[in-house]
Amino acid sequence: MSYLIECKNLTAGYEGMPVVKDLSFNVSAGDYLCIVGENGSGKSTLMKTILGLRSALSGEIIFGDGLKQTEIGYLPQQTAAQKDFPATVREVVLSGCLGRKGLSPFYSKADKKLCEDNIELLGITGIAHRSYRNLSGGQQQRVLLARALCATGKLLLLDEPVSGLDPMVTAEMYEIISRLNREQGITIIMISHDLQGALKYGTKILHMESGAYFFGTTAEYRSTDIFHAMSTCDCHCTCDHHTGSKEAR
Ligand code: ADP
Repeated sequence: MSYLIECKNLTAGYEGMPVVKDLSFNVSAGDYLCIVGENGSGKSTLMKTILGLRSALSGEIIFGDGLKQTEIGYLPQQTAAQKDFPATVREVVLSGCLGRKGLSPFYSKADKKLCEDNIELLGITGIAHRSYRNLSGGQQQRVLLARALCATGKLLLLDEPVSGLDPMVTAEMYEIISRLNREQGITIIMISHDLQGALKYGTKILHMESGAYFFGTTAEYRSTDIFHAMSTCDCHCTCDHHTGSKEAR
């Protein structure tokens, strides 16, 4: 069987310092993989390595099903600087076509059509003329999702897409992502601190702790010790204190 992504004994990190160590997992077309685990365990580093923004120290990532690394849609973790980006919604979405075009600064008719289609798909037609920096956090995330879709019809990598959003907007965002997965057949890899959301919508879980990993279906994950340790805590997330001592909680 051919995978969309096969990660084999991957070690990745910074200046020779491994952060992700000997990690193996795979993603099939149609999967909705949620990556959970403590801060600093290497979730974002793994995502950047899949995208080719960092190179592996050892091991390999194999792309199958005709997937090209430049055709992966990416929604990065939001930073304050990004929230203030001076461009219209339409310009931000259109810029998602750039990855596939190499260095060409010109947008084709097909790019513009794709941009308008994704604006419509994400329900942001009414705000397409507005300045991105003046939008709410939830609206900005929809815009960035439409932008990521311009890069791909196959695979979206989402780094904490619901972080900082209120519960209602979070639920809307989850519904949109789930619809893209179910109805458009787009494979999802999402980093999240929201374990409940990961279990409700995800089909597979990769749990990362410094150097120790679980990879399997959500059902398999529910029977692990690490899951039971987390479910006994009120906050139901995957933050650091779940793996620390009782005194640290
Ligand atoms: P997570 O996404 O799980 O919170 P990260 O992948 O962001 O973890 O970070 C993993 C480790 O790599 C952390 O110890 C972090 O300090 C370190 N790290 C992240 N980015 C860099 C960088 N650009 N240079 C050096 N170290 C980094």
